[in-house]
Amino acid sequence: MMPRPKFIAGNWKMYTTRAAAQELAAAVAKGLPANTAVRVAVCPPFPWLTAVADVLKNSPVALGAQNCHYEKEGAFTGEVSPQMLLDAGCGYVIVGHSERRHGLGESDALLNKKARAALAAGLSVIFCVGELLDEREASRTEAVLDTQLTNGLAGIPAEHLGKLVIAYEPVWAIGTGKVATTEQAQEAHAFIRRKIAGQFGENVASSLLIQYGGSVKPDNAAGLLSQPDVDGALVGGASLKADAFLAIVAAAG
Ligand code: PEP
Repeated sequence: MMPRPKFIAGNWKMYTTRAAAQELAAAVAKGLPANTAVRVAVCPPFPWLTAVADVLKNSPVALGAQNCHYEKEGAFTGEVSPQMLLDAGCGYVIVGHSERRHGLGESDALLNKKARAALAAGLSVIFCVGELLDEREASRTEAVLDTQLTNGLAGIPAEHLGKLVIAYEPVWAIGTGKVATTEQAQEAHAFIRRKIAGQFGENVASSLLIQYGGSVKPDNAAGLLSQPDVDGALVGGASLKADAFLAIVAAAG
């Protein structure tokens, strides 16, 4: 089996001005070690995508969006299609972030439509899953992940699975400063890999990148990234400072 590369992505959420976004992207691109084997992406807010794409041109830093619609075009006021994201220079889109699942009520069925449409359009999808605190405390973590993966990834054709990335993001760890222990992360990632093996086969599972997300910082990244089934990180808060984000990338290298 080929060793899996590490993949670090920054989710800028609804932060940055246009100028700050361009500055942050430039600092990340400039600070990336030459020939690093670590894959790196940044996901700015929609309005800054093309401005950041200009900055990242000729850099190995990929561009991602934080959400998309499942239709190509149409009367969907306020929505953005996968095809528009590609046109704006994106290679990635985050689907199913907990702030959309739980904050905006996006269902597994809706997220499944988004993931399938984005993959079919040619984007790579970072598909987020994760349990709430009360679900973990009720020992329901694996059941929750199982349902989110069964329903969220249903019907994805085999030829698109190479562009799928899973982000395990325990909801209680996102933006709280309360990171999962390395054991908790490894246990959940190993479960996700076994689940994907059952759903799509061993080959898909063994090459699947599974990121951890939830209060990843420079001082806890190395421990998490050293776990055998942790292939990278989806970073929120710490991705808004180039130094912190680059330190997490360095911990992956
Ligand atoms: C996220 O937004 O996906 C995230 C993990 O946020 P934070 O790193 O701030 O917890």
